[in-house]
Amino acid sequence: MFHSGPLQLNAVYWSIQGEGVHTGRSALFVKMPFCNLKCAWCDTDFSTWTDWTEQLLAQVAMQQVSRFAVLSGGEPTRHKHIWRVVSLLKGLGFTIAVESNGTCESEVIYALFDWVTISPKKDSERLGLPQYYASKAALKMAHEFKYVMEKNFDVRVLNRHEIADGRRYFVVPEAEDFLNTKTLVLAWVAENPAWRISLQTHHLMGAR
Ligand code: SF4
Repeated sequence: MFHSGPLQLNAVYWSIQGEGVHTGRSALFVKMPFCNLKCAWCDTDFSTWTDWTEQLLAQVAMQQVSRFAVLSGGEPTRHKHIWRVVSLLKGLGFTIAVESNGTCESEVIYALFDWVTISPKKDSERLGLPQYYASKAALKMAHEFKYVMEKNFDVRVLNRHEIADGRRYFVVPEAEDFLNTKTLVLAWVAENPAWRISLQTHHLMGAR
């Protein structure tokens, strides 16, 4: 499903992956516009984009030695140009991770990526779905799950996961309410050793 025309991308830049298993890796970030959720606390302006050619994207992609890319957004799984972006980066030798809100219903889309991070959102209720909805495809295809714990986070949503070898499970204290939410994540991992805490280290490092 290749859509022609310029690639509509929100931002492309090099930074470090700040969260999850790949924390600390030098990574090319490709932020895609558009999202089907409108989370109240979302810090990404995914409503805008600029037009990119494949040549320009390849040029930026080859600026550093790392061949690790993170596609985020917005919601990359919903973007009409995702096939072209993945195809181009794979052709350049990149390992590609995706960050998804878990509402995509297509295993085929999730199978495009080498690493799938599913981060369900409370605001999935805006779509008439349960809070922290994750599709069957997302639950099946995820390599890691990541939940931002806010003050009134209902930990029962985490109990739906049957812990499986080879998959990773993370809780993240909400940055804006760190003092309160760090207590929540500490309590959770103390009782549930398969889960780990992930901090937004890119912010701590002053990286983008
Ligand atoms: S799912 Fe992510 S990108 Fe979409 S509105 Fe929520 S926080 Fe923002």
